[in-house]
Parts: sequence; structure tokens; C-alpha cells
Amino acid sequence: MDVSPTVTAADYALIRNPDAASPTQRTAAMEAPAFGMVFTDHMARATWTLDGGWADRRIVPFENLSLHPGATVLHYSQQVFEGLKAYRWADGSTRLFRPEGNARRMAASAARLGLPAITEEDFLASVEALLSVDGDWVPSEGESSLYLRPVIMGTEACLGVRPSQEVEYLLMACPVGAYFSGGVRPVSIWVAQGFHRAGEGGTGQAKTGGNYAGSLMPQQQAQDNGCDQVLFLDARKDKYIEELGGMNVFAVRRDGTIWTPRVTGTILEGVTRASVIELLRTEGREVIERDISLEELRAGIADGSVVELFACGTAAVITPIARLVSPDFDELVADGGPGALTMHLRGRLTDIQYGRADDVHGWMRRVN
Ligand SMILES: *Cc1c(COP(=O)(O)O)cnc(C)c1O
Repeated sequence: MDVSPTVTAADYALIRNPDAASPTQRTAAMEAPAFGMVFTDHMARATWTLDGGWADRRIVPFENLSLHPGATVLHYSQQVFEGLKAYRWADGSTRLFRPEGNARRMAASAARLGLPAITEEDFLASVEALLSVDGDWVPSEGESSLYLRPVIMGTEACLGVRPSQEVEYLLMACPVGAYFSGGVRPVSIWVAQGFHRAGEGGTGQAKTGGNYAGSLMPQQQAQDNGCDQVLFLDARKDKYIEELGGMNVFAVRRDGTIWTPRVTGTILEGVTRASVIELLRTEGREVIERDISLEELRAGIADGSVVELFACGTAAVITPIARLVSPDFDELVADGGPGALTMHLRGRLTDIQYGRADDVHGWMRRVN
């Protein structure tokens, strides 16, 4: 549908949850929520059909879905998703961090998966509509937030392999506590052995569940080897570092420059990654987006020219990396502690997100 009339939060018809949590139940549920395990009272939905485009926008009680067993998403993984957070500021207001970036990326992911996109305006309208009814679920404790998870998926009952002619948009929300409850802890990273996350021309730059499905077994191997996360190398040469299963990576060099893998089509371009690059450049630092071979990175860690390594993404913001591990090596980055620039960037980003610092980049969007 190229003629898209203006969509606002008011277009999401509200069907209130008669069994919504009481304030006491809500407080208890928000006590110490494990990531993605506690859901709010409502969700946003919209339904797309080939003939009618997007319609039936609604806020409904959070409940199980009724899905035909032949639904495309269950067989051919025709699905894309996003992840962003709503933050409670000290003045009681609720803000989103660069949601336009998530809206644009979701549209691009949808296009790659043969799914209809929703407009940026519609995306924001759904978030606003959900927050207007579930706004009390945005936590205010420390570095907690309300994680928002939009999904677009093919729901047509059709085992034939073609794009679904019926599509559902869902937006759910989960209160989440500070990612690192006991203070920021540097993680150990396992370098994937013979497995890749994405290949050229594939779906690596789309945020789609299938990329994650393929990362779970290597992630299990990381854990079996005493590591927290897995680092994937490029599929063509098995040589250049790409990213973790769900986070982009950066290396801080002793000469003051910061390196990160350039986006080539096989890396998911994070909103956090873009923001880190912008923050660093604003501070006058040189950020170099280039191919980084594992060999070069290892040599840099060993000779001290790489002084910090960190990963970044919406869920954990910025995570220091202490060790890089494989069957052949175990490299400790500097003294293994969180690096100064890593922690400075983490502070800068979270200060902006929680309204403790001026939003000089115009990244925060007020919703409530
Ligand atoms: C979502 C995601 C990221 C991080 O993106 P942000 O927008 O910063 O949250 C990085 N890599 C992958 C594979 C992802 O799915």
C-alpha cells in the first residue's frame, strides 16, 4: 500500500484486560524480573491482508495467540522482530531511545523476509498506544526499563513456499531490571568453531528469528567451554570478526582509535553501535569501520595495542569483554577488568537514556 493515511495511537482500538494486574500484583511482578519473563497486561496487534493492507489495529489483553498449525511462520520462519526500551525519567515521564531507528530497521528486515512493513508512524503509534494503557509497567528503579518487542510474522495457513498473504503485527512489553544486577561484569567470549551466523546475500543484516536459531547451538558450545557469548567470524573466509549472536563489537586501541567491523550485509547494524560511533566522533575520537581479522585482533591483544574490547546492544547497553577463547588460545584483554573508555561510553549512553545528561543528539522521544 503506497498510499498510507496518517496513523496515530488513537487508531489502536482499546479492548481492556478485565484481569489486568492490580497495583500490588504489578509491583510484585516487577520486583526482580528475569529478562523477557514478565509481560504487561496488554499487547498491540494489527493484521495485514493482501487486499486490505494493514487494518484492525488494536490494543488487546495479553493472551495466547490462536494460530493455524499451517501458519507460514511455524514452517518457514517468515518473521522479523525488533527490540527497544522505554525509560522512566526522574520527572515521571517515559522516553524512548531512537525508536525511529528500530522502525526503519524493522521495515528493512520485513522487506528482506518478504513481509509487508509497517510505517515508522504506525510503529510509533503502536508503542504510544500500548504505553498509554500499560504505562505503569515502566519501572523506575535504577537501570531498569520496559523492553518493547515488536514482531511481524506470516500467519497464512499455507504449506506452499511463498510469502504469506496474511500477516500479523504484535507488540509486547516486558519490564526488565538492570542487565548486570551485581554491577557491570566483563564477559568471556568463545570464538565460533566452524559455524557462522550469516553469509553474503543471506539474512544477516535483517533482525529475524532464523539468525538466532542458527546461533543457539554455537552459543551452547560457548557455555560448555565456560564462556558467556559466542563471537562469529565471516562465512566466506572464516577470518574476520563479525559480531556476537546479538551484539556488535568494538576494540579500543592504545593509539586512541576505536575499531569496529564495517557493515557488509552480514552484520546486524545496531542502533547502539551507531550511537556509540556518534558519541565517540562527537568527543573527537577516531572510529574506524574496517575488516578486522581474528589474527590481527589476537595479536593486538597480545602485544597490548588493543587495550579494551566491548560488545553493545539494546538489552545490555555496553558489555566489557575480558577474554577471547578458542580451543587454540585464551587471550585476556589487558587486565581483564572493564576498560575506562568502555565504562565512560556506558555512562554517557545510560545518562542520556535516563535523562541524567542533556540529550544533545536529540535521541530521546517522549511518549507519556
Ligand atoms: C539486535 C541485534 C544487535 C544490536 O542492535 P541494537 O539496535 O543495538 O539493539 C546486534 N546484533 C544482532 C544480531 C542483533 O539481532
